[in-house]
Amino acid sequence: MNSLQPELLEVAPPTRAGDRGSVGRHTAKKTPVGMWSSPAVIAENNFIYKSLSNWAFNVAVGCSHACRFCYVPSAATIKQGPKLAEYGVKDPDAEWGDYVLLRPWDEAKFLASLRTAQNTPKRLLKPDGNRAVMYCSTTDPYQVIHHTDPDQQKGLSQHARLLVRRSLQLIRDQSDLNVRILTRSPLARADFDLFKSFGPRLLFGMSLPTLRNDLAKVYEPKAPAPSQRLAALRAAREAGLNVYVAMAPTYPECDEGDLRATLKAAAELEPVTIFHEPINIRAENVERINAQADSLGINLQTHVFSTREQWQDYAVSALQTVERLAKEIGVAEQLHLWPDKSLGSASVANRMSKPAEYLRWLGKYWGRISEWP
Ligand code: SF4
Repeated sequence: MNSLQPELLEVAPPTRAGDRGSVGRHTAKKTPVGMWSSPAVIAENNFIYKSLSNWAFNVAVGCSHACRFCYVPSAATIKQGPKLAEYGVKDPDAEWGDYVLLRPWDEAKFLASLRTAQNTPKRLLKPDGNRAVMYCSTTDPYQVIHHTDPDQQKGLSQHARLLVRRSLQLIRDQSDLNVRILTRSPLARADFDLFKSFGPRLLFGMSLPTLRNDLAKVYEPKAPAPSQRLAALRAAREAGLNVYVAMAPTYPECDEGDLRATLKAAAELEPVTIFHEPINIRAENVERINAQADSLGINLQTHVFSTREQWQDYAVSALQTVERLAKEIGVAEQLHLWPDKSLGSASVANRMSKPAEYLRWLGKYWGRISEWP
């Protein structure tokens, strides 16, 4: 199964500060697409109330899908800002989607991280993580790497494939950990055979906030269209994979008809779980959404983000609408809402007609452990 060997790689990581790796040496134009400094390993994740996984394997810093709402760059800004500056990234939040820095492959370090995860006693793990490793939590495992130099682009694309495939093979063969794939890209279809070889240990899922390609193009400008994602999910089912759907995050423009259509399409896949959340306000993502609307000369319903209260009312309404629609469609059992922690504040609860009932409703989803086949 080891069809991709590390020694075939021709892309070298940066060796000194200020060296932006292979990219900096080959192009005059600053394109922060190349190799990161530290290797890809399995690391504990910091999910709260998501029930997605205990660990994550992230192939890159940055993501070419450039989703305007993405929550990741706030963490990147804080933790990786100085390092990203060495690659020519001045504002990691505003420039989100322009930089993709693939992590090097170091098999010994990966195996050490795999052993650490495998040997972690269950009592020390959050029970809602299902002993799973998620691909990926801060980037997309199947994004297209764009580079101005065709040779570099080819080498980087091969490296991205190596990271995903070799690590999956090792997890499959040297542990009994579960794997959760989450992507927006139908490129994942190339690995369905590998996924299948995990049996019930692997769940394949895609983010599908809407079926409207036009709307997704505004919020997720460089990600594959929802119609392509739905086709990939259908192909996954036909290939015999266990699938889940992340209606995440839905946009303020996703009206009831749109949400119903997405839920119905998801229901037809007989998914293990359907996750849902509306867009959360994180770091500068509202500024990014506004800038995108301005650049396209369109009006988005960004008033729902104007104040904390307006967002909370919007979020509760979106979550409860999806819950009602899931009952109508017959997938209430599979629905796993992700209410944000802040929705449990006294100020929100006191605005509800039945605060105690509302808090019980939140607690039901916060305490939920997502299904595993
Ligand atoms: S695919 Fe995921 S990680 Fe990439 S930009 Fe979109 S939300 Fe962020």
